[in-house]
Amino acid sequence: MIFDLKSMNFRFNFMRGDTTLSDKLYSAREEKRILDALGRGLLREYPNPERVGCPTSEIVRGIARHRVPLVEAEPWLDHLTSCSPCYRDFSEFRDVYQFRRMTILFAIVASVLIIASVSGWVLVQKYRQRDLVQTAVLDLRDRSVPRGTEAGSHPTQGERPLEIRRTVSHLNIYLPLGSSDGPYDVRVVSPNGESLATVSGTAGLKDHITLLPIEVSLSSLPPGRYALQVRKDGLEWDSYPLVVR
Ligand SMILES: [Zn+2]
Repeated sequence: MIFDLKSMNFRFNFMRGDTTLSDKLYSAREEKRILDALGRGLLREYPNPERVGCPTSEIVRGIARHRVPLVEAEPWLDHLTSCSPCYRDFSEFRDVYQFRRMTILFAIVASVLIIASVSGWVLVQKYRQRDLVQTAVLDLRDRSVPRGTEAGSHPTQGERPLEIRRTVSHLNIYLPLGSSDGPYDVRVVSPNGESLATVSGTAGLKDHITLLPIEVSLSSLPPGRYALQVRKDGLEWDSYPLVVR
């Protein structure tokens, strides 16, 4: 009875006269208080110096560690609750067992948390890496602004071309100083003037920079020299040399 009341689904019914005070199961904490109170007595009140009728240490340890089936433990329960030395052994084994179980549980929880945070970090890094690879910044702020006349306009010769990778899918274009916000068109033009990709976007002012974010798909373009052209809605194209890698 002293052994794990909860798992035996033991119910206490306190009767006083005809009144049932409670037929609810004890909580784990209440159960422990009762066991402790009983245990304090049990530790002293049944000295058995000759150890008459005592089970082996293995059996006591097995019961304390829940390793002995209840059916096999049952015959010893009465003895354990009426022999102070055995009850003392049982209590010690049980404390060690519970401490070890708590330690293992703690270690498992800690490992799960560590694994979760490490994989979360890896995932974040992966996404960040992917975003970095797929995002390019094109800074037009210090570029001269050659006017593209027609579709086949030639960008200014000699100026270092803008460079982007074909895998890029997102462009952050820093428009020349003084550019206004609002809708813009952006296109990539071949050397012979053919427009290969045209997209639209809306520029906004951010930290004194007119930023035009756009989504592009350049994967079908062969690597080579092109022109990047930008125009404010309804105005002329501005043309910049571009190398696609
Ligand atoms: Zn004993």
